[in-house]
Amino acid sequence: MMQEHEIIEKIKEYFEENYEIMRLEGGHSITDYSKQEALNQVLLYFEKMREVAYSVTDTEVKLTLPDQKTPMGRNFTIEGIVDIVRENEETWMYDLKTHDAEYIASNKELYGKQLNVYAHIWQELRKQELDHTAIISTAIPQPLKQAYLVNDVYRIRFEMAKWQPLIMIPFDQDKVKDTVLDFASVVDEIEDKKFRPTETDTLNKVMEGTNTLFATRVCRNCDARFSCSSYREYAVGKGKGERGNFKRYFEDFGSDTDQEEWINANLQGRNPDSIVTEK
Ligand code: SF4
Repeated sequence: MMQEHEIIEKIKEYFEENYEIMRLEGGHSITDYSKQEALNQVLLYFEKMREVAYSVTDTEVKLTLPDQKTPMGRNFTIEGIVDIVRENEETWMYDLKTHDAEYIASNKELYGKQLNVYAHIWQELRKQELDHTAIISTAIPQPLKQAYLVNDVYRIRFEMAKWQPLIMIPFDQDKVKDTVLDFASVVDEIEDKKFRPTETDTLNKVMEGTNTLFATRVCRNCDARFSCSSYREYAVGKGKGERGNFKRYFEDFGSDTDQEEWINANLQGRNPDSIVTEK
């Protein structure tokens, strides 16, 4: 078995390889600062989930539910990737999500739907035992990130202990049909090119399990926001008595903190000695 320092070296190696592949495939680079942040996130995640990582028996198991029909008669297949742990005569199925743990814990029904389908494939089509299903959140909690930022060892330890990335969600086979029907309706909408954005009212609401608006939490990270009618309505303040605030909409570059972080990251990422001036 590998020693822990060897595993960490391997993680760093895989991280570099993956980054290089994504950079070549996507044609985008990130600053050294952001890259280091991403690696820190992976290492912290490993530190927290070490026990589960050591006990995984089947990793990246591909599950397939073929030959499904939409209400409009289209064929489709549901696919998913999960990790399986068999331990103490019990089998666990884990689905990894990049969403934060608090949000997942407050919206278990939403995440349970997908897990139910995976559990159904595992048990009914593959004829395998299953005792528990759970989601693992890979997002690092904000307080832990802040503790790292100021390098406060006590707070880091405290926040690490508080962090609960594993959220158990019991599976319920009775709901599988409804979930497959939900997927089927979405397939029809996509094939019919119906891409309605979320209602503006939802953008103005605080999301369950968080203290942020949908617009801040989801839309701010959405590349389609400047061509989205709901976001435009939200941003110019329609319905809040602030009509016509187009300036705010076009000058929406994120929060002051986000902007400052971006500038600092780029300044750090660019060593003045490496700037080549044209002669
Ligand atoms: S900005 Fe993006 S996430 Fe927000 S409503 Fe529009 S399409 Fe949906």
